[in-house]
Amino acid sequence: MAHIVVLGAGLGGTVMAYELRKELGAEHTVSVVNNGTSYSFVPSNPWVAVGWRDRKAVEVELEPIFARHRIEFYPEGAKRLHPSERRIELNNDTFINYDYLVIATGPEFAFDEIQGFGPDANTQSICHLDHALKAKTAVQELIRKPGPVAVGAVQGASCFGPAYEFAFILDKVLRDAKVRDRVPITFVTPEPYIGHLGLGGVGDTKGLLESEMRQRHIQWICNAKVDSIEPERMHITELADSGAVENTYELPHVFAMLLPAFRGVVAVHGIDGLTNPRGFILIDKHQRNPRFPDIFAIGVCVAIPPVGKTVIPVGVPKTGFMIESMAAAACVNICRLIEGKQPNAVASWNAVCLADFGDSGIAFIAQPQIPPRNVNWSSSGRWVHGAKMGFEKYFLHKIRSGKAEPFYEHFALQMLGIDKLKELEISDSLDT
Ligand SMILES: Cc1cc2nc3c(=O)[nH]c(=O)nc-3n(C[C@H](O)[C@H](O)[C@H](O)COP(=O)(O)OP(=O)(O)OC[C@H]3O[C@@H](n4cnc5c(N)ncnc54)[C@H](O)[C@@H]3O)c2cc1C
Repeated sequence: MAHIVVLGAGLGGTVMAYELRKELGAEHTVSVVNNGTSYSFVPSNPWVAVGWRDRKAVEVELEPIFARHRIEFYPEGAKRLHPSERRIELNNDTFINYDYLVIATGPEFAFDEIQGFGPDANTQSICHLDHALKAKTAVQELIRKPGPVAVGAVQGASCFGPAYEFAFILDKVLRDAKVRDRVPITFVTPEPYIGHLGLGGVGDTKGLLESEMRQRHIQWICNAKVDSIEPERMHITELADSGAVENTYELPHVFAMLLPAFRGVVAVHGIDGLTNPRGFILIDKHQRNPRFPDIFAIGVCVAIPPVGKTVIPVGVPKTGFMIESMAAAACVNICRLIEGKQPNAVASWNAVCLADFGDSGIAFIAQPQIPPRNVNWSSSGRWVHGAKMGFEKYFLHKIRSGKAEPFYEHFALQMLGIDKLKELEISDSLDT
């Protein structure tokens, strides 16, 4: 009998626990350790920030669902992982032991790396549901007292889709409120060009997103490094492709929402052999840590090298499709280890993304993530807005039902006419 613990009950961890419960017999125990009792659907946060969703619509209480599916739950959260002892110290100073651990702790938000940055200082955030609810109050205030706005992401960020989404959704909200003419919007990004997305662009994301920006009168600054942020002014250095300073800006803002760089959470950060210098979990192609082979990792917490070189660092986005594929691979590999076999499942690290603009949007698929690609597709239209709502409803239904069915296989890819994008590869080679 094995005890498998999943650390983190976000998008990756919850699906992971359901997968394990489905595949493992009742003699094995599946436990989840999370910060808090609820799951919240992070991709809905841009809608929460403009008042199109409330907490109730995007949050799910996990305790009754886990109880129904025989998943043990520790909502106290982890203080520290002790991998050599195969145990986790919880925030209430108790310990739990594991045979296999899946780390799915998502990101810690590195607001402290820039002076004046973050929801406790001079900018808003949509990274967490509580941030998005706070941003909603600031959006209402912006509508009452219109003024200049900055939206985007800072150096080292990896999650650009939601920054574009929020810029376009905010534009729609301000147009609907008939105040857009008094709100100059500037998109600030470390990407070398609009639509790079941390992926070197996908299909024509450069053309599609630049065109959308022009249509909506959104200015942009690329290769931007945010130096510091004051309550009504942010200091930005724009670099040329050579790395020389091209321009400096003192950008006025009455409202700003910039996505931060991510790093690993404190409970795992700095464990020799487990994490890289930013606290992301090191894994091989089977989602397994080489130093501690009973530990697997999935989701935003895993270490993935950047796609190509950029003047200002940008990371690679880790999106839902990729995360579900990581969970499926980790589940197969843990089940095989329990049966005395070697891991052989490899996640397909594809980027599949729907970016909603409030009344339209863009969709893209990059397979594999790193160019040149077999699938390098992007498209735009009103249908993306509907598809994103379908994604939200389906995923929340899946979390509420406790089912491990992979969303993308059954809905998104067929809707996009791509039914042969295989989720998992099985490899007989055991090299990493
Ligand atoms: C604003 C935003 C919008 C996004 N939109 C999309 C989208 O539209 N489509 C898409 O595919 N992807 C999107 N993503 C990217 C990605 O899919 C999400 O970030 C996703 O939630 C990541 O899943 P995860 O499981 O890795 O981390 P998370 O969902 O962040 O979950 C991490 C969990 O770990 C828990 N945790 C952390 N530390 C501890 C600890 N010490 N002890 C116990 N528990 C802990 C947290 O409480 C949390 O429940 C978006 C990301 C952001 C930030």
